Amino acid sequence: MGFSERTKQELVRVVPTARCCRVAELTAFYDFHGFLLGRQQQYLDFYSSSPLAARKILTLLKGLYPETYTQTLVQRARARKHQVYTVRVLSPVDSEAIYAEMHNQPMTDQDPPVLRKKCCQRSYLRGAFISQGSVTNPERTYHLEISSDKTTTAAKVLATFLALGLEARMTQRKGVNVIYLKDGEQIVHLLNVIGAHSALLQLENIRVMKGMRNQVNRLVNCETANVDKTVKAAMEQVDLIRRIQHHMGLDELPEKLQQVALVRLEHPYVSLKELGELMVPPLSKSGMNYRMRRLTELGRSLTPLANESGISYEDDSL
Ligand SMILES: [Zn+2]
Repeated sequence: MGFSERTKQELVRVVPTARCCRVAELTAFYDFHGFLLGRQQQYLDFYSSSPLAARKILTLLKGLYPETYTQTLVQRARARKHQVYTVRVLSPVDSEAIYAEMHNQPMTDQDPPVLRKKCCQRSYLRGAFISQGSVTNPERTYHLEISSDKTTTAAKVLATFLALGLEARMTQRKGVNVIYLKDGEQIVHLLNVIGAHSALLQLENIRVMKGMRNQVNRLVNCETANVDKTVKAAMEQVDLIRRIQHHMGLDELPEKLQQVALVRLEHPYVSLKELGELMVPPLSKSGMNYRMRRLTELGRSLTPLANESGISYEDDSL
């Protein structure tokens, strides 16, 4: 089962206690795929493409109207392969009462209006996500979206996101409005406000792991770069010492420099600090640095040999 499906399963079990929030969540399902049908005998239908959504609609309805009769129909959609679940409120009186209650919630004055209470805004988004939402596996990428082919519903969902401080954006995909979040932190924020706490923890763990992996990679790259520098510097030193050896002979060098030159030729790949430890008696890095600089300066003043590595390195302190 994917991360998206698991998140929805968790959210189906989150049932708000306050009546205002239950109505708000039911309204989300209605806004996406709900209809008040019939003229004389009205009944209310909630369509959904998942049994999870149907179950949540039923839970909310039974909580709000314990006495009401409902019927759940399962049909195979003609054009598509998936099933369509219809939860139908059979009583005309209850249908109208529920419809009225959904349309009499306190709304903001803004355009488009959203539910006024924060608790209800959260519940509305929970319903919207169960109804038409998806979230990608955070191991791959961070992307959460809710889509609707109804422009008014999409605008209301977007405005609710914004009202809760979530930086959602809207785009169109094949004529369908898509409201999405791309940032890991924002997705965590949304999962928190709609009550998907297990999904949130899972996502946070993955984010931490990813962060650590990136940090380790950075350190490894940094280390590799340093090793690379050390090797390049050492190769250049070996070239320059060979020049001295060829043009004048190491015996001509002052004893202190000669010793450094010999140790370097013997250990071409170690760092200057390690080279200092190989000296008898051992020499500090700064002492080695000073002597090596004198050697390389001398080497640079001499004509290059034909078989040199050709590597030149600016920093002698390695
Ligand atoms: Zn509420």
